[in-house]
Amino acid sequence: MSIPSAEQVAGLVAESIHQRGREPESLLQHLIAIQQKFNHVPESAVEALVGELGVARTRIKSAVAFYAFLHDRPRGEFDILFSDNITDQMLGSRRLMRLLCERLDVEPGTTRADGRVTVDPTSCTGMCDQGPAILVNGMAVTRLDAQRVDRIADLVQAGTEPVHWPGDFFRVVDNLRHPGLLLSAPDTQGGGLGTLLEKGADAALAEVERSGLRGRGGAGFTTALKWKLCRQARSAERYVVCNADEGEPGTFKDRVLLTSYADLVLEGMTACARIIGARRGFLYLRGEYRYLLRHLESVLERRRAQGLLGRDIRGERGFDFDIAIHLGAGAYVCGEESALIESLEGKRGVTRKRPPFPVTSGYLGHPTVVNNVETFLAAARILEQGGAWFRSEGTDKSAGSKILSVSGDVDRPGIYEYPFGTPVSQVLADCGAEHTQAVQVSGAAGETLSAPEFERVLAFEDLPTAGSFMVFHHGRDMLDMVRNFAHFFQHESCGFCTPCRVGTALLRDLVEKVAAGQASDYDLDEMRHVGAVMRQASHCGLGHSAPNHLLSTLEKFPESCRRRLRSPDYSPSFDLDAALADARAIAGRDDAGAHLEGET
Ligand code: SF4
Repeated sequence: MSIPSAEQVAGLVAESIHQRGREPESLLQHLIAIQQKFNHVPESAVEALVGELGVARTRIKSAVAFYAFLHDRPRGEFDILFSDNITDQMLGSRRLMRLLCERLDVEPGTTRADGRVTVDPTSCTGMCDQGPAILVNGMAVTRLDAQRVDRIADLVQAGTEPVHWPGDFFRVVDNLRHPGLLLSAPDTQGGGLGTLLEKGADAALAEVERSGLRGRGGAGFTTALKWKLCRQARSAERYVVCNADEGEPGTFKDRVLLTSYADLVLEGMTACARIIGARRGFLYLRGEYRYLLRHLESVLERRRAQGLLGRDIRGERGFDFDIAIHLGAGAYVCGEESALIESLEGKRGVTRKRPPFPVTSGYLGHPTVVNNVETFLAAARILEQGGAWFRSEGTDKSAGSKILSVSGDVDRPGIYEYPFGTPVSQVLADCGAEHTQAVQVSGAAGETLSAPEFERVLAFEDLPTAGSFMVFHHGRDMLDMVRNFAHFFQHESCGFCTPCRVGTALLRDLVEKVAAGQASDYDLDEMRHVGAVMRQASHCGLGHSAPNHLLSTLEKFPESCRRRLRSPDYSPSFDLDAALADARAIAGRDDAGAHLEGET
């Protein structure tokens, strides 16, 4: 669309304020609404928000600069983002992006001169089981192929709004392949809450404790202890936050849980609220899953009508609790709980110094429980079925089951649920993986396994995982994975601390140097050194885990790098002689003495 008039901007800001309020915490939600309407956040909208919310202009501008889905310059009317995870690449996404760009006569990363279309790569969109995938004006299009790209090019050229595109383009399926303890039974409404109200909050918390449930985000903190600490913290207000910002490349299970088991997730949040004494909760939904917003809002509405949310829940006087959905805007670091809380407060998602931990000082400084989607779902099932039922599966230290997002070189990508203690080889056999060279467990930040490790088991004491399970067969070049993740982390580093900001850029450049065949042993050592510094000195988990994939690959798949080395000795990461070409031209010299190579 053309640049909006001052009246149009003022009208939308007023409407957004009416819908979302004028608390400073609502800032990000206003910015998302403005971005959606005008394809960018115009300066006049920033000024209007300064007046309406009473927040500093710099805070608004820095938020726009921070979130990948917000822009201060107009994007195309059709804003097309290609999911650029390694699994999308393996399915041909880069070739398809070039094809679309050729058809639309636009360069990747730019907006066409007529303002009609922008094409860009973006981080994993959570559709790895049905990729390659794109987002068109924020809505997911799956199972892209050359034919679909052709059709999309025609629709864009004709100016057909996405709402009138074939519905099948936007079809997202669950691909639930192997349900287990949690997912074998259908979604339920109110069962867990009924038990909780019957037995009381103390008994319900004891049941969660008996189950041995640990957070499913990867770190594995004991859920009952987290809830107990929050309950004990002194405050007039407490909050429950569901972290549905699964941005780890290769993860998509929350998408399925929020689609087909949303009641259980919301029930787990509501039970937590009753136990800790919270009246407000937030579901932080990653921006890539915006298409789920309407569905989730309708589930919330129905639960209010059923007396499962709102005032006097299930008839118990004073049991008041409600949930608001807060959209993210494309920032991987917001998956970290303190960064997520910053984002909920309408700020840049920069991680906080801890302690204090969110259980004592979280949202707006109040005690806050942050758990992920799978954890809340498991808690609801535990209240329905009992702690012993949950403990009947898993290992001593890892009770229950784990839900996996399986993608890559497999016949049947999708959602798999297994008891903790299941070996990787079992998952590979079930999903139809053959000639597997490597498995990346727990996403880009996780661990790269080689074949001798496939008998290792999914468990906190062996292979802790947030759920991503990407498979690479023997035909794959592991350096492609490393390059993809190195770029990902450089892009997603929030820039707050030097070891991560500089380290991710250095690692990306060194990996590119290897790929270009210009690296030496010195560079490989340099990677190890930079990775070690990042692990030790970075401020948050992103920086600690960003070098994992590279260090694992250097150790377990050394040939993927070594066979590209140009020489065993040091060589610079850029061609100094070539860089001096302009100077030689200006000086009118091209003799041997004007070249560096002859000198060394
Ligand atoms: Fe930001 Fe990276 Fe530092 Fe975390 S480690 S605070 S993501 S720069």
